[in-house]
Amino acid sequence: MTSGGDAPGMNAAIRAVVRAGIYNNMEVFGIKRGYMGMIEGDIIPMTSQSVSGIIQRGGTILQTARCKEFHEYEGRKTAYEQLVKFGIQALIAIGGDGTFTGASIMSKEFDMPIIGLPGTIDNDLFGTDYTIGYDTAVNTVVEAVDKIRDTASSHGRIFFVEVMGREAGFVALRSGIASGAEAILVPEVKGQYEKLRQYMINRAEKRKSSIIIVAEGEEEGGAAVIAERIKSEFPQFSIRTTILGHIQRGGSPSAFDRVTASRMGAAAIDALLDDQKSIMIGLANNEIVHVPLNKSIKLHKDVNRDLLKLAEIIR
Ligand code: ATP
Repeated sequence: MTSGGDAPGMNAAIRAVVRAGIYNNMEVFGIKRGYMGMIEGDIIPMTSQSVSGIIQRGGTILQTARCKEFHEYEGRKTAYEQLVKFGIQALIAIGGDGTFTGASIMSKEFDMPIIGLPGTIDNDLFGTDYTIGYDTAVNTVVEAVDKIRDTASSHGRIFFVEVMGREAGFVALRSGIASGAEAILVPEVKGQYEKLRQYMINRAEKRKSSIIIVAEGEEEGGAAVIAERIKSEFPQFSIRTTILGHIQRGGSPSAFDRVTASRMGAAAIDALLDDQKSIMIGLANNEIVHVPLNKSIKLHKDVNRDLLKLAEIIR
């Protein structure tokens, strides 16, 4: 099952789960539209053939949905009964912390082993260095910023580029470093506006162009708000704002995401064979690790402060 926001590489994970499951003589089903499809019994048998030609496709062939009913016990009970009806003995859920919260509650209420695979472009799950989709999203941002940079430098403009990340600055930080951004504003750090102002006073006059990467959840309210403030304080600069939006979620997954998703998908099957319950599969120092679902939900993963510092040093 895929659930929550879609992320590139989810299909590669589905493919790996199905094929590794069949390799180990399991019968595999696909649950459509997340918990919604689980409640409605929208469940289909998966074969090796049904996942061919999908490793390079973004989105999720199983589709995804947000499901209010799963927040209620009655909804989860109906969902569980559907799984039993189909003879399903374990669940592999690909999604973010909301998906894992629902899964964790369900595994406590009913006797159902659940393995989570981290699938979100935000990379904000504790216990894993990478989530499925993050690398592709970062590459999409870098490609876009490279193009924006051409205009910025030709016209001597300052561009504020807003990237996804309501609560986490992972996409902003990594793409900012990779695209040589002059400043990176993330939700995890407070009081960044003043720093940006100082940067404008000290540096921007001497520069022909600047790229400022802003995560959407940054404390001032995003790129448009910050750009307006800077514009009013520095009317001498030519300032533009670009909001990258949903292009960051789609597209063909990077090789890194495909390989990570394939490893994690197969590791989920191994974990089930090993009688594991209620864990998330993660990647730490390029090794597969098992993280208790509870931990992956409750503990906070911080952005890498060394990288933030590095971004300031080398800008
Ligand atoms: P993303 O990081 O992309 O937003 P996510 O998995 O966090 O992914 P959510 O929309 O938060 O996405 O959660 C997906 C689904 O999980 C919800 O629509 C809901 O059905 C279920 N869910 C989330 N939180 C809970 C909860 N506290 N109790 C039960 N179910 C939940």
